[in-house]
Amino acid sequence: MVLEAVQRLPAETTHTADAHGRVLAEAIVSQRTLPPFDVSAMDGYAVRCADLAGASKSAPVALRVAFEVAAGAAPDRAVAPGTAARIFTGAPVPPGADAVVRQEDVARDGDRALFALAPPAGDNVRPAGEDVRAGETVLESGTRLGAGALGVVASLGRSVVAVHQRPRVAILSGGDELIEPDGDPAGGRIVSSNSYSIAAQCREAGAEPVYLGIARDRPEELERLLRAGLSSHVIVSSAGVSVGDRDYVRPVLEKLGCELIFWGVRIKPGFPLVFGRFGGSTDGPFVFGLPGNPVSAMVTFEEFVRPALRKLAGHRRCFRPRVDAVLGEPLRKPTGRMHLVRVTLARRDGRLVATSTGNQSSGVLRSMALAHGLLPFAADATELPAGAPVQVQLLDDEILAAEDSGL
Ligand code: AMP
Ligand code: MG
Repeated sequence: MVLEAVQRLPAETTHTADAHGRVLAEAIVSQRTLPPFDVSAMDGYAVRCADLAGASKSAPVALRVAFEVAAGAAPDRAVAPGTAARIFTGAPVPPGADAVVRQEDVARDGDRALFALAPPAGDNVRPAGEDVRAGETVLESGTRLGAGALGVVASLGRSVVAVHQRPRVAILSGGDELIEPDGDPAGGRIVSSNSYSIAAQCREAGAEPVYLGIARDRPEELERLLRAGLSSHVIVSSAGVSVGDRDYVRPVLEKLGCELIFWGVRIKPGFPLVFGRFGGSTDGPFVFGLPGNPVSAMVTFEEFVRPALRKLAGHRRCFRPRVDAVLGEPLRKPTGRMHLVRVTLARRDGRLVATSTGNQSSGVLRSMALAHGLLPFAADATELPAGAPVQVQLLDDEILAAEDSGL
């Protein structure tokens, strides 16, 4: 339902230097040929292969070195028969020459060079157009600009590029008990950690978080902060979505004209999640009212908000990667709700073994700090035996990273 409601954001122009991780909103069609000319791949001598046809160690061939071509130079002379040109890596191969012999294979004697081998045509030359031809579509619209793609865009002389807008996410927390990390915890106060974890999750998803602050448990305060978020693409609030007397998120959203698309999901943690949108099918922000418990907030962000942010940003792949694992210990639960079990992963005998992080209470935020992934435990299932094959949604790909050599 979330992905149905959400569409890709329109394009904007950005500097290529700032485009890393963004999604192309245009196809990149090259106006250039790359390399633009035949380029020497070595420091050495540009030669005509025909001149060296018989060269060998026992019968080296001498050629007069007629001129020099450095990288960045435009040669205005051709290599005449019986001559060679001194050339450096990255320099254009002058007309007439059809190979470069690297300097390690050449003995120099005054203005003459001695060649002890007969190079094949094209040796050590990067031909014009080997990388890109003018008029070619090099990157499709919808491509994520990783480091390689970004380099390609820059190499084509594009200093600006059209990408999908990055979703701006207004974040607000709600509760009389909440303080900022430097506040005084006396008198039943707790730090609003959700503001931090949710902002970090936004950044990880490629979105731009804008923190609006803490709303006290009064409808006017919540209304004020929600209004402040109306100019963003998405509003994410946490807490105040349960059925307590002071849970004002739903009534205030309704008062502000938000269309509630669903509330309540049969998952644990995260049951009270609310999803809605302002402005019907127009461009008001989407709203996620996440539960307040720190784990519930993070898990519902993972499952519902993150895919939405990825889709808004133009990504075609909206979900976390899933890996096959075996369960390291049995898991039990009642029927009724899908559990999203926080698990660590370890490599054992060539397999990934998933083990619960321990206490799965939705107040134990450390379980999220420890978890490599979330294991969906189906609503109707009650038991998963040790050794059962499972799929884990990967939150942290560190576990898949190759270990260093210990040096
Ligand atoms: P509520 O949804 O308001 O009933 O909150 C559920 C639980 O989450 C309570 O224990 C709150 O203190 C806690 N909580 C709510 N908001 C936050 C927050 N921003 N950071 C950390 N814990 C929170
Ligand atoms: Mg509360």
